[in-house]
Amino acid sequence: VNFKDYKLSNEILKAIDILNFKSPTNVQEQVIPVALENKDVLVKSQTGSGKTAAFAIPVCELVDWNENKPQALILTPTRELAIQVKEDVFNIGRFKRIKVPALYGKSSFAMQEKELKQKTHVAVGTPGRVIDHITQGTLFTDNIKYLVIDEADEMLNMGFIEQIQEIISSLPKERVTMLFSATMPEDIDNLSKKYMNNPTKIEI
Ligand code: AMP
Repeated sequence: VNFKDYKLSNEILKAIDILNFKSPTNVQEQVIPVALENKDVLVKSQTGSGKTAAFAIPVCELVDWNENKPQALILTPTRELAIQVKEDVFNIGRFKRIKVPALYGKSSFAMQEKELKQKTHVAVGTPGRVIDHITQGTLFTDNIKYLVIDEADEMLNMGFIEQIQEIISSLPKERVTMLFSATMPEDIDNLSKKYMNNPTKIEI
């Protein structure tokens, strides 16, 4: 399988080429075509499998550059992962000029607010700070069409379940949800039943 086999625009293919990704990894091969059809995916996969690009490629492809309000929200358990994911989205979306602020704690709220006032396509963040921005009205959620929950099991281990539910309840019901987790405990199964729409289950 080649990245050119997917319905990807030249801007995204060029970015993948520059990243020197020759062919999709297993998780990418299974996730990308399903996500490009705007279907929910529930993915069991480890770090190092290429899972970030598995959601970043379809998200970058699907967002409409012309819209100013955030269209995708990616939740991560830690600031380090938020920074990493932001970089990956930036690299994949660079020729499409995708704007991707990262929202995490112990960092200036005002600076993040300033960034959010500019055009934003994809917001990446940790649950606490994302809620702060939603509550303060600095993160507009009515235009979110894609929600990614990355490292969902870590998120639950860190006690973020209530925050995640609070965030999801502020998002449009009509959206695509992609959940990634290294393990699939019952809590995640329950989360997917409650908030996902007939997800395609993928196990790597
Ligand atoms: P991740 O599992 O998302 O943390 O990715 C692990 C590493 O694999 C990262 O350094 C990526 O840049 C790299 N990577 C992701 N997809 C590909 C690919 N299709 N070909 C080669 N390397 C990749």
